Amino acid sequence: MICPACGLGEVVPTQGPGRRWPHKTIPDLELPEAVNIPTCTECGEQWIDDETGAAIEAAADEAFRAALLEKADDSIHTLRRHRVQQRALEKLLGVSHGYLSKLRSAERGPSPHLVAALMLLARAPERVEELRSAWSMRVSEPIPLFAGIESLAWVGGTVHNGATDQSPASAKQIEVEAA
Ligand SMILES: [Zn+2]
Repeated sequence: MICPACGLGEVVPTQGPGRRWPHKTIPDLELPEAVNIPTCTECGEQWIDDETGAAIEAAADEAFRAALLEKADDSIHTLRRHRVQQRALEKLLGVSHGYLSKLRSAERGPSPHLVAALMLLARAPERVEELRSAWSMRVSEPIPLFAGIESLAWVGGTVHNGATDQSPASAKQIEVEAA
């Protein structure tokens, strides 16, 4: 059909790389090259009917599952390099023994929640210890302040973390002691 947008090009099923769509948690998921999207040869406008839409959705779901596995794998490797033991990680994240090593063969892939936790830990492996402490029920256990708390806590000359009238320097000190 002739493109209703420009009236010049023809709308033809088109495959190719670089077509990124927001899908679930991923803002720029790349669709598989083989997915056909009716596209104008002149202006590039895409014309998606129900049938094509369903096919795109299915392909995006597939690509999303692959992306979750890849991100989980990358994060697990990074944490391993930082000597975080897989068994410890499984306990902290509440998944069964061995789950992280057989992600790829598991019937269902990892959930976005699990992958989110893995990615955050891989970006700051020191927080694994913090997570262990956060799971503890003992109130005497100091809960480490996280990086960046200083700017939140230091408002108008008063430290709003239970103490008052402290300088930013002593707020920093609290953070160091707790770490
Ligand atoms: Zn067009």
